[in-house]
Amino acid sequence: MYVTIGEVFSQTVRKFPKKEALVDVSKGLRYTYEQWETEVNRLANALIEAGVRKGDRVSTVLFNTSELATIFFACAKIGAIFNPINFRLKEKEIAYIFSDAEPKIVLFEKAVEPHITSIHETFPHISFWYIDEDTPNYATNYHERVKQAPATSPRIGVSEDDIYAIMYTSGTTGRPKGVMHRHRDMIEQSLICNSVMHIRDTDRGLVSAPMFHCAELHCCFLPRVHAGATNIILHHFDPKQVLRVIEQENITVFFAAPTMWNMLLQERLEDYDLSSLRVGLYGAAPMAPVLVKECKERLGIDLIQAYGMTEMGPAVTFLFENEQLTKAGSAGRACLNHEIRIVKPREEGPSDPDDVLPPGKVGEIVVKGPCMMISYYNREEATTKAMYKGWYHSGDLGYMDEDGYLYVADRVDDMIISGGENVYPREVEDVLYEHKGVLDVAVLGEPDETWGEKVVAFVVKKDPYLTAEELEEFCKNSDKLAAYKRPRAYYFVGALPRNASGKIQKFLLREQMKKATSS
Ligand code: ATP
Repeated sequence: MYVTIGEVFSQTVRKFPKKEALVDVSKGLRYTYEQWETEVNRLANALIEAGVRKGDRVSTVLFNTSELATIFFACAKIGAIFNPINFRLKEKEIAYIFSDAEPKIVLFEKAVEPHITSIHETFPHISFWYIDEDTPNYATNYHERVKQAPATSPRIGVSEDDIYAIMYTSGTTGRPKGVMHRHRDMIEQSLICNSVMHIRDTDRGLVSAPMFHCAELHCCFLPRVHAGATNIILHHFDPKQVLRVIEQENITVFFAAPTMWNMLLQERLEDYDLSSLRVGLYGAAPMAPVLVKECKERLGIDLIQAYGMTEMGPAVTFLFENEQLTKAGSAGRACLNHEIRIVKPREEGPSDPDDVLPPGKVGEIVVKGPCMMISYYNREEATTKAMYKGWYHSGDLGYMDEDGYLYVADRVDDMIISGGENVYPREVEDVLYEHKGVLDVAVLGEPDETWGEKVVAFVVKKDPYLTAEELEEFCKNSDKLAAYKRPRAYYFVGALPRNASGKIQKFLLREQMKKATSS
């Protein structure tokens, strides 16, 4: 028997009315579950008064705020479709999502105001709600609306099979696609994540990764509400503030993308008491095993890895804390009720999920599970391709070992073919991360007349005196890299372009290389 996300919230309120539910650090605001419910109900009623009906989209362009947490449950209660948009997108990208999702209401904040101001006239049918002071004249103030609305729970029939959200993929492989999930899919995801991290009502979870992304929202925030735990919200990720808040708020559990864990490791950790930390989750991008080890040694935290994608809700596999050393480099085994296959990629069209490869052979990762999306919004052709024969085609390459552990090699599009040999950038990146002078690295293929592609590395230095010769020597001495996998050129850069979920935007680095060679 399933329930809806709105019911999950109400059940927790009934069980833990006086318990601290939500802390918004930047606003200095604290809600018990009972107080938070009042806010959720008021907003739900305010949305109804503004004409929002079941199935209508409500979009947000917000950083992490208590309002975003409230909107999530208010939409769920009235059957409105929640559509959180990446706050880092530029005007045109936001406008693309508005025209695709056609929201009735958009909620936004000061930090993104210039973008919304420049596009709002193109969308006369959207009502814009502003959550900060000094509301621009084309918008109404969120708090004014909510204050006047009744605090009673709205009575709208919502079913577990109704669509609960449309989440747009980050667009690393093209235009963002709206992924549609039902209430029941996300409740299943929440239960899986709870069982993996053993979330209890006594947990205090930090929300510092972006809440618009499903890794934070579905794997951490929702499961903690489900269990009656406390969510402590940071407006955005700032390493010093994260460490301070862990100490002040006795944080026990949180998610961070690999790049965020790496940033924490660059701080003076001995200045903080981090002893409350129990378990951490990482994922959304690969993390070098050497960094996982350093987190355990210096932060004193056990890390669990998740591999997945928005289309799957997102988690597909978990690598548990006790497997980090025995199965280093793996993304773990399929999570409860999920299945994974490694299949032979096809030159054209989706690979056949029945064309299964034996252990050790690299192929496309295809997956199946109860949290799989229903379809992409407005994208029938893309849906048919992605969900061919009922399996979600990830576009990732990987292999499985004899024990059923998955190893993610790379994106199909990122694989380098140099002199006819396949090189998976991740293998090379993992070795370079082991060098003490390297802070961040991205490996990719550069077009080459002799080899087709040559392996090159973009490196952010930790040690300012680091040289290409030193890295070349380091790779030569590594027993993990065959000669053809060694980078043939090193480009030192100040920072690598990353999207909000921490993925390196390799297409931008490729554009940079193209410009450099054509000028
Ligand atoms: P788009 O589909 O528009 O390109 P996106 O793929 O970046 O967007 P997400 O759903 O955020 O959208 O990312 C999923 C991808 O992230 C996976 O397919 C995989 O390539 C990568 N990924 C996620 N977790 C891991 C992990 N633990 N290790 C390696 N890669 C990971």
